Amino acid sequence: MKPDLDAIIVGGGPVGLLLACLLQKRGLSFRLLEKRTQPLAHSAAIGITPPSLHILDQLGLAREFIDAGVKVYDCFVHGRKSKLGRVTFRDIPDEHRFILSLPQATTISILQSHLGTDCMQTGYEVTGITQHADHCVVQTNAGEFTTRFVIACDGARGRVREFIGMQAPVKPYDCHFVMGDFIDRTDFGDAAHLFFTPTGSVESFPLPGGQRRWIVQTDQRLDAPPKGLVSYLTHLRTGINVPSADQVNESVFTPRRFNCDRYYSHRVILCGDAAHGMSPIGGQGMNTGFADAEFLAEVLAKADPLALLPAYNRFRRKAAKTAIFRAEWGMWLGTWRGNARSALRDVILKFLLCQGPVARRMGPFYAMLTIPFNTLARVPQASLRPHTA
Ligand SMILES: Cc1cc2nc3c(=O)[nH]c(=O)nc-3n(C[C@H](O)[C@H](O)[C@H](O)COP(=O)(O)OP(=O)(O)OC[C@H]3O[C@@H](n4cnc5c(N)ncnc54)[C@H](O)[C@@H]3O)c2cc1C
Repeated sequence: MKPDLDAIIVGGGPVGLLLACLLQKRGLSFRLLEKRTQPLAHSAAIGITPPSLHILDQLGLAREFIDAGVKVYDCFVHGRKSKLGRVTFRDIPDEHRFILSLPQATTISILQSHLGTDCMQTGYEVTGITQHADHCVVQTNAGEFTTRFVIACDGARGRVREFIGMQAPVKPYDCHFVMGDFIDRTDFGDAAHLFFTPTGSVESFPLPGGQRRWIVQTDQRLDAPPKGLVSYLTHLRTGINVPSADQVNESVFTPRRFNCDRYYSHRVILCGDAAHGMSPIGGQGMNTGFADAEFLAEVLAKADPLALLPAYNRFRRKAAKTAIFRAEWGMWLGTWRGNARSALRDVILKFLLCQGPVARRMGPFYAMLTIPFNTLARVPQASLRPHTA
């Protein structure tokens, strides 16, 4: 049978929306189905790395993103007693020498405006998928669609994996955080600051609109943190006064890790957090999903996408594996507690941040320039030809 559409995208988070914009640019017929009817109440991702800005540039959106966000040029790292050094992005080998800080809700809203309303349907929840040789039938709470491909951008807790029997062994970490955005009364400007102390970490990032995000490590998961906890722990560990009256929102997270065994099953393809999960400490999850979307848009626009899915699987799984490992390593070191381990961490960080050749690699490392195949431009072009896939 001839399906109605080239693709159904399940989920209108940042990754699904970016993919939709890229498919629209390539002239494919698709629908994006999003179960939410209201905008996100909170913001998760804020860090947008240079490779992602290059992907956004293909849509002519990089300038709009940059104008809406804050450019973070430096990230200062503090140890038990003093500043240990900094990671600077000022001399990384890229046209964009900064990490852009922009709340995920704004990222979603810019992408949604660019996409327009014709191809996105909100209030549609995908409830099942049936695969056939040359098409899929997608069941929703509001009717069925037939499509050549289904792209699952339904996030880490999405159900599409379950519909296609895809395994994703999840490893929860024994690390917990509470995060809040505050009116910024510090003199930190556009710099990020990380404080690694014997009683736990505190991370601080600038936000647009005169705000700043503070993330504090906690002993256990606190689903209902006591009022003022972020302010209290920040002051206790850093001496910085962040009045709780200035707090505008709060959320709690416990990082988890997974990388699906395979990123597709016949005509159903996983993309973004649906395919991989990593610690948010390090700010790589959404950026990894953006690179998945770029690769996938190119594959779906080719004459025989099925022949190229093994290449999508191979390259994107490898990129995600590296990002997952780096996020885990960074979180592991940053969450050590106690005086002895903190002292050891200070020595390690001083070495990483102050030894010339090693220190010079830190900027490109955290800007995700050294993630393998971080954009399509770094994937061998031969692998996008069916006979080598
Ligand atoms: C505290 C925190 C900080 C973070 N900071 C960063 C950062 O600085 N940089 C970074 O790169 N990443 C960061 N991340 C990770 C980032 O938020 C995620 O990687 C990103 O949201 C993944 O986007 P996604 O579109 O794949 O999935 P999601 O954002 O989870 O979107 C999935 C969408 O699918 C919809 N959906 C689900 N099921 C269905 C269904 N059956 N039918 C229809 N719709 C459905 C959902 O409603 C949702 O809108 C952070 C995460 C957290 C928690």
